[in-house]
Amino acid sequence: MARHLCDLIAIETENPPGNNYRRFAAAFRSLLRSFHFEHVPQRDLATVVLAAVGPGKRPLYFHGHYDVVPANSRGQFAPKRVRRSVFGRGSSDMKGGLISMVYAMRAIHEACPEFGGAVRLCCVPDEETGGLRGSQALVRRKLLGRDGIGMLTAEPTGGAIWNANRGALSLSIRVRGRPAHVGLHYRGINAFEGMLRIAAGLGQVKRAAERRRTRCPIEPEEARKSILLLGGTCEGGSNFNVVPESCTFTVDRRINPEERIERERERIFAALEEAKRAGVKFEVKLLQEAESAISPPGTALGRALSSSVADITRRKAPFSLCPGLLETRFYAKRGIPAYAYGPGLLTVSHGPNEFVPERNLVECASVYALTALRLFGSA
Ligand SMILES: [Zn+2]
Repeated sequence: MARHLCDLIAIETENPPGNNYRRFAAAFRSLLRSFHFEHVPQRDLATVVLAAVGPGKRPLYFHGHYDVVPANSRGQFAPKRVRRSVFGRGSSDMKGGLISMVYAMRAIHEACPEFGGAVRLCCVPDEETGGLRGSQALVRRKLLGRDGIGMLTAEPTGGAIWNANRGALSLSIRVRGRPAHVGLHYRGINAFEGMLRIAAGLGQVKRAAERRRTRCPIEPEEARKSILLLGGTCEGGSNFNVVPESCTFTVDRRINPEERIERERERIFAALEEAKRAGVKFEVKLLQEAESAISPPGTALGRALSSSVADITRRKAPFSLCPGLLETRFYAKRGIPAYAYGPGLLTVSHGPNEFVPERNLVECASVYALTALRLFGSA
């Protein structure tokens, strides 16, 4: 497993910009073929890899992404095995998880001839930037989650099961002014002051949002608050003695699973409208928009997963809220119970020292296989 993982890490699938997708897809297809799984080709979807095991009609989806966030150094694409861990970009998030899923399918195929259910593997790119050429492309073709009874994704959950995730609405706002020398300031329009006017309105939205707390389990207590981050990036002006011509800042609203994105969008845009009525000139650019999702722990899949984790690892996995976005949202929206559980560690993902313990790869493959057998009544 570690050797195959190293081969996958060495393919530099950095996103952005979205490098080497075709090369990775080809390598992954040939890995599947070597285990006797046939990739199911889809017209003009060359970068998505699909495969299946079992004769059943309604599948459990194994879903994973192979794009990785940009590396901190080129060395991260020269994977290393040190002290029974695999180091490299994507080892935790989430090429390691993909390998565990492939091996779970292999275990079912080779060791469980009586398996009557179905597992479908769905391996996509573009997860790190919203899913345009991955999950969203599958949604557009009505292929995502088709006939599914459940979905597992192999994100780096570090021993927990994520059954919920926040939604996101991220904007960039560019305030326009008119430049003028400080001595002739009355000829200018100050974009910075316009930005302050907008930020004051959004500050009220933020304070109201922070009073709402999710009921989903997440530690510490402060993390339960709904989130509005103002000024993640903030830039403008040309010099201390010039009225600034433009100022740009970002707004990152992360909604709790109990909130609705439509309602939260209205609140933000109402504050923007008010600034507009007060004469501030600006443009809004949408950076990303994604819904929140929640699957109750008590579904057949939730129970099968949780008892399989306990059996294999001898530890109980708490159900909890993922701090970021999850592609489970695409499935949950279609009424399919969807959970994240994977071999990687969130604490090292996206960082300069990303790794995955080899033991986690094996345990996770066992958990996936056992979960599928339990769900379809073969274990
Ligand atoms: Zn990921």
